[in-house]
Amino acid sequence: MNAEIITIGDELLLGQTIDTNSAWLGQNLAKWGIHVQRKTAVSDKADAIVEALETSLNAASLVIITGGLGPTRDDITKHTLAQFFNCGYRTDASVMAHLEKLFAKRGRTLLEVNKLQAELPEACETLHNAVGTAPGMWFQHNKGIVVSLPGVPNEVYYLMEHEVLPRLQKAFSLQTYEHRTLLCLETPESILSKHLSHFEDELPEGYSLAYLPQFNSIRLRLSQKQQNQAEDKGIEFWFERLQHALGILCFGVGDISAAERVAQFLLDGSWEVSGAESCTGGFAINQLLQVPGMSACVQGSMVAYGNPVKRRELGVLENTLKEHGAVSLESGKEMALGALKKFGSDFAFSTTGIAGPGGGTDEKPVGTVCLTLVSTQEPKWTAVEGLSHENGLWIYQKKKQIPGNRQQFMQRASNSLFALFQPWF
Ligand code: AMP
Ligand code: MG
Repeated sequence: MNAEIITIGDELLLGQTIDTNSAWLGQNLAKWGIHVQRKTAVSDKADAIVEALETSLNAASLVIITGGLGPTRDDITKHTLAQFFNCGYRTDASVMAHLEKLFAKRGRTLLEVNKLQAELPEACETLHNAVGTAPGMWFQHNKGIVVSLPGVPNEVYYLMEHEVLPRLQKAFSLQTYEHRTLLCLETPESILSKHLSHFEDELPEGYSLAYLPQFNSIRLRLSQKQQNQAEDKGIEFWFERLQHALGILCFGVGDISAAERVAQFLLDGSWEVSGAESCTGGFAINQLLQVPGMSACVQGSMVAYGNPVKRRELGVLENTLKEHGAVSLESGKEMALGALKKFGSDFAFSTTGIAGPGGGTDEKPVGTVCLTLVSTQEPKWTAVEGLSHENGLWIYQKKKQIPGNRQQFMQRASNSLFALFQPWF
């Protein structure tokens, strides 16, 4: 089944708001076997909306519209749809009751302009919006179904899940897809795909493997069209096979980020962690702290840019800094050991590098990064290049060259840092 998405709003065309709604819709409709074949962004103008709607209805049996349902004058989607479907308005008592309750709860007066949100085109079925004030609308056109949703992303998600998808499933007896996702770090797509060519050859009809790269991580999504053929071994079988084929190239199982995988490991083992960040400005520890529960694992962390701070607070030797520079494996090691001692944790990491755009030299160009992880705990595998055992501590280091701008540098460097945890998993 084919669908088209129309996003409405001047802010989208001015680039003030990034259209995340259609990205989410594309992703989630695919799970239901609905193929989005086109998305169009239009301004808050009736002519533009009608033109886009006519084009989409001529091409697809489902059109999902987001935006333009606010109570203010600039939002005209509802009136444009009433005109398009050539109908008047009705007052929806359930929407009115919802608005009264919502405003009372928020201690706000329900103004006339707010009450207008309960006025809906007669031609539509109301889609109850429990998380906002603008209801969604479901229209049956002779060419297909038109769904109109508010622009606010979490309202789109709520309405799709609770109101739209159940109706679509009923109307079209949709074939659903099963998905399993895993995360690979630092292995380029081309190498992964070469590694998996035998697996992909074996994969039976009805299954597909998607590579979803982002920075230096790649999500692999295995999908299965719901079919109950007797000879089908099932998605669990093929997902296990995929993990087996990847071996250590698989960093984590599930739809998780590198930081989430590391956090999972630290939480499972009740391990304490600390950091010393020089080129990532706290980004790495911040990523870990996005995960609930991590406040119990993170002991402390230091953003240490100045050399005096590295010496005084982390015990990096003056001689090391002089001889090798702050951006070096030698200084990075002393930073991480300093953090381990200072914060008394089981694991400590450090980052030191040149995020750019300035500060590079021939010897150490922009993008150079030295990453270190030290631990009191013995890793599960020890035959790893860059991993050593000194004075009862395990030290794992990597020096890398990272492409991209400053923000991308921080994201990639943090992912590379998280990859150092893998021998302990
Ligand atoms: P509206 O329904 O037009 O009043 O939109 C409400 C808010 O949702 C706007 O202020 C936008 O910031 C946001 N919004 C609208 N369309 C989108 C979209 N396609 N993606 C992400 N956010 C959006
Ligand atoms: Mg708007």
